[in-house]
Amino acid sequence: MEITIFGSGYVGLVTGACLAEVGNDVLCVDIDQRKIDLLNSGGVPIFEPGLDALIARNRDAGRLSFTTDAAAGVAHGLFQFIAVGTPPDEDGSADLSHVLAVADIIGQNLTDYRIVVDKSTVPVGTADRVAACIRERLNERNQRHEFDVVSNPEFLKEGAAIDDFMRPDRIIVGTDNPRTGELLRALYAPFNRNRDRLLLMDVRSAELTKYAANAMLATKISFMNELANVAEAVGADIERVRIGIGSDPRIGYQFIYPGCGYGGSCFPKDVRALERTATDTGVNVPLLHAVEAVNHRQKDVLFEKINAFFDGDLQGKTFALWGLAFKPNTDDMREASSRRLIEHLWQAGARVRAFDPVATEEARRIYGERADLELLEDQMAALEGTEALIIVTEWNQFRSPDLGAVRDQLASRVIFDGRNMFDPLQVANTGLTYVSIGRQAVT
Ligand code: NAD
Repeated sequence: MEITIFGSGYVGLVTGACLAEVGNDVLCVDIDQRKIDLLNSGGVPIFEPGLDALIARNRDAGRLSFTTDAAAGVAHGLFQFIAVGTPPDEDGSADLSHVLAVADIIGQNLTDYRIVVDKSTVPVGTADRVAACIRERLNERNQRHEFDVVSNPEFLKEGAAIDDFMRPDRIIVGTDNPRTGELLRALYAPFNRNRDRLLLMDVRSAELTKYAANAMLATKISFMNELANVAEAVGADIERVRIGIGSDPRIGYQFIYPGCGYGGSCFPKDVRALERTATDTGVNVPLLHAVEAVNHRQKDVLFEKINAFFDGDLQGKTFALWGLAFKPNTDDMREASSRRLIEHLWQAGARVRAFDPVATEEARRIYGERADLELLEDQMAALEGTEALIIVTEWNQFRSPDLGAVRDQLASRVIFDGRNMFDPLQVANTGLTYVSIGRQAVT
């Protein structure tokens, strides 16, 4: 099948490469000339495990190509995927300007039946707006072509995106047209073989399902973070509590890790956008407000612990930071907890020596060259000449460091761990002070 994907970011590239992998002819369109040039010259603009090889294989096979020519994109695919960004607007609502820009382009160039598939995360009612926009452009051109707009939200996780796309938990397809539903079913058949995971529903329910999923996941994290603060205050250990509650299958062990807050390009903005949708329609959502507020506060917890440890005197001190990405296995730093922490440390007059296995380039892009930020290529090198180690992202390679060697580099012999990576007693036995989340500090 011929497929066009608008937007060559995390979602667009993974979608495009996976659809090409099963034999489709995919054209990816982006407005970012540098991205397209890089893709056309064999590069990949983001870090996602396995994506380089998948793109290379399908590009070489002639099934995957890249362009900035949007009109060629509209001409190419029966399926027109929208996978552009929907960043938060100032009032928390999703900024739909990129999505509607694609709708404009489709309406301006449509000459034949097309299925517009909205993969971006968009508020309820967006499919109607996309359809209205295409219709308007067609009217201006005095054209009467048929088209459908389908909601097909994406649930991939950065860091495991290819596997998630190839073996999805579910494929949500929102359409009011049964024939279009069947065409989507055929498109997704290669990813839907061992049992039927395709859930057909109305468009609005499909749009809301994506927000509901992310809001539920964010709620689990904020719940655990709130409990972590209680555990600390009452002398309990949140990690034991986590194991205790997860054993109940109604709760389960997945996604109940306490930490220094959630970040990324999805949870924060999607919770806010859902709050906005609810408020705009007159629905009171105190739980969603609390999820967001708890997370906002939790992103400061690690800094507060550091500040308290040093009696509010961070001026001139240098800290080692392990982890910049918002989670392991990605270079994405959008709304990452590391950013708030680094910025707090700078405000307090401290300097940072940071290491991340893949996100240092992204940090350089965000912060540029500055005297109070050194980006290191090696995790042990980041410790040299520092006061303390701070861990913000739970990369596997941080799990078993040589704690003796770590201790010898840190002037104050202390680790602040925002992801509870270590056994407190083991760290303390090495002669380090260990401050983590929801557990008593140990020395
Ligand atoms: P991204 O920022 O990585 O990529 C978006 C791309 O769209 C950029 O390359 C940008 O240049 C391009 N673009 C913008 N306007 C365009 C236009 N008019 N025509 C063509 N290209 C255009 O974003 P992303 O992380 O891939 O997210 C895309 C959407 O998918 C968002 O709505 C997001 O919420 C949703 N989503 C993201 C994830 C994730 O893990 N990143 C998971 C599920 C859903």
